[in-house]
Amino acid sequence: MIIDDQHYDVIIVGTGAGGGTMAQKLAPTGKKILILERGSFLSEEENFEAGEVFKKERYRASEEWYDKEGEPFFPQTSYAVGGDTKTYSGELLRLREKDFEQVQHQIGFSPEWPIKYKDLEPYYNEAEKLYNVGGQFGEDPTEPPHSQEYLSPAVSHEPQIQEISDVVAKLGLHPSHLPLGLKSEVQGIGSVYDYPNVTLKTDALVTCLHTNPSGNEVKAVEVQIGTQSYLFFAHIIVLACGAVNTAALLLRSHNEKHPTGLANSSDQVGRNFMKHLMTSIVQLRPTTNSGTFPKTLSINDFYWGDENFPFPMGSIQNTGGLLQNVMFAESPPLLSGLAKLLPGFGLRQLATRSIGWWLQTEDLPDPDNRVRIKNSKLYLDYTPNNTEAHDRLIYRWIDILKTVDKTMGNPLSRGIYPRAEAPLGVIAHQCGTCRFGEDPKISVLNLDCRTHDVENLYIVDGSFFPSNPAVNPSLTIIANALRVGDHLIGTF
Ligand SMILES: Cc1cc2nc3c(=O)[nH]c(=O)nc-3n(C[C@H](O)[C@H](O)[C@H](O)COP(=O)(O)OP(=O)(O)OC[C@H]3O[C@@H](n4cnc5c(N)ncnc54)[C@H](O)[C@@H]3O)c2cc1C
Repeated sequence: MIIDDQHYDVIIVGTGAGGGTMAQKLAPTGKKILILERGSFLSEEENFEAGEVFKKERYRASEEWYDKEGEPFFPQTSYAVGGDTKTYSGELLRLREKDFEQVQHQIGFSPEWPIKYKDLEPYYNEAEKLYNVGGQFGEDPTEPPHSQEYLSPAVSHEPQIQEISDVVAKLGLHPSHLPLGLKSEVQGIGSVYDYPNVTLKTDALVTCLHTNPSGNEVKAVEVQIGTQSYLFFAHIIVLACGAVNTAALLLRSHNEKHPTGLANSSDQVGRNFMKHLMTSIVQLRPTTNSGTFPKTLSINDFYWGDENFPFPMGSIQNTGGLLQNVMFAESPPLLSGLAKLLPGFGLRQLATRSIGWWLQTEDLPDPDNRVRIKNSKLYLDYTPNNTEAHDRLIYRWIDILKTVDKTMGNPLSRGIYPRAEAPLGVIAHQCGTCRFGEDPKISVLNLDCRTHDVENLYIVDGSFFPSNPAVNPSLTIIANALRVGDHLIGTF
C-alpha cells in the first residue's frame, strides 16, 4: 500500500453529472482538490462512431453484475472521464413542479421530496448556463416556470420529425422541442483539470473508504491504480460514482462501527434503486432520413395521465437517428426483427428508413429493488413496478402513430410498430440508492446530501433521488450538485 503524502481539502470520486459538476463548482475556490476517476479519456470519434456503439458495445462496462436470480449481465454505463455525460444524449430537463410533491400513481404513491422546485430553481438556471442548454420555453404545458430564459434557441427538428410534430399538433397534442445541452467537450467535468489546485487521476478505482476509530469521519480513501493500492487523504469526501456504484462502494466499506456498510445505520444504502420503465418503438417511413440526427422532440401530454387513466404515464421522445443513437444500443435486434418482415432491406437501409421513439415511465421506490454485495459480487435486484402505466403509454402512442401514418399516407408501416423493453442492463437513469431526507431512520443523506452517519462524507450523484419522475435525470443531478457545492463553499 502506498501512502500519499498530500492532504487534500476535497476528494471527489467520479467525473459524471454529479462529480464533474461538483468539481467545476469547487475548482475556482482555490481549494486543493483531488478527483479520482476509474476510467480514462474517450476521444470524440470513439464517442459517436456508430460501429463503436453497436458492434463493440463500447458503452457497456466490461465488468459483470448479477440479477436477482444470479444471472450475469453487463451494465450499460461508461467508465470514462465525464462518466455517462460523455455518451448521453444531452436532454437536460427540469423536473415538473408537482414531481417534488407526493404523487398518486395507479399502484401507490411516489414520495414527496424534502426540498421543493423553488429551492432548486436557481440551480436549474445555473445548470442550464453551465451546460449551455438550448430550448424553447412555453411549448410543453408540463414544463415548470423558469425565472431565466434558455440562453440558446432549441435545436431544430430533422425534416421528417418536424412533419410528424406538425401532424401530432393537429391532433391536439403539444409536441415540444427538447432542451439539449450543447457543450461538446468532455461534458460533466469540462476542463476543470486545468486549474492548478485540481489534480485528476484517471484509471483510479476507489475500492474502500476507511473511517477513524469512532466511525464518524472518513479518514482515508483506498484506490487501485494499475497494480498498486494507494491511500489518499482529505477533509471532505464527495462520492459521485453513479447510484449503483456509490451504494456498492459504501456496502463494501463496512467496518466494525458500520457493520452493514458505511453510513448504513438506516439499512437504506442500496435500497429503492430505480431506473425508469423504458421501451423503444420503431416506425418505418417511406422516405429516408440522415440516420444521424439528435433527439429533439418530446410529447408530455400523457405525463400526468389521460381521460381513461388518471395516473402518471410518462414521457415520449424521439430517439434520434438510429445509426448513431447511443440509447439505441438495443436497436440492432429490433431492426433485425424488422428486416425479417421486410426482406430486401439491409440494417443500414432500415436505420435510415425508420424513426425511433423512446417511452419512459416512473418506477416507484421499492426497498426490495436494491444493490447487494455477496462474495464480492454486485447484485442488482430489480422487479419492475408501475407496468400498467407504461403499457398504457405504449398503446396510446402506437394509436397516435397509426393516425400519423394514415394522415401522412405511409404504406410501409402496415400498422406494425416493433418494440423492445429496455433490459436490466440499461441502467442509464439509475437513481435512489441513498435517498435524502430529514429522518436518519429512513434516509441515508441529510438535506445537504451529507451522510447522516459520517460527518465528512457527501454524495452528489443520482443516489439522492427519493422518487424517479419520468423526465430524464441529469439536469436535476447537476442542479443538486451545484446546490450542495454552495453548501460546501459555505463551510470552507
Ligand atoms: C447512453 C445514455 C444516454 C443518456 N442520455 C441522457 C439524456 O439525454 N438526458 C439525461 O438527463 N440523462 C441521460 N442519461 C443518464 C445520465 O447520463 C445519467 O443520469 C448521469 O450521467 C448520472 O450522473 P452520475 O453523476 O449519477 O453518474 P455518472 O455520470 O455515471 O458518473 C459516475 C462516474 O463515477 C465513475 N466511477 C464509478 N465507480 C467508481 C469508483 N469506484 N472509483 C472511481 N470512479 C468511479 C464512473 O467512471 C463515472 O465517471 C443517459 C445515460 C446513458 C448511458
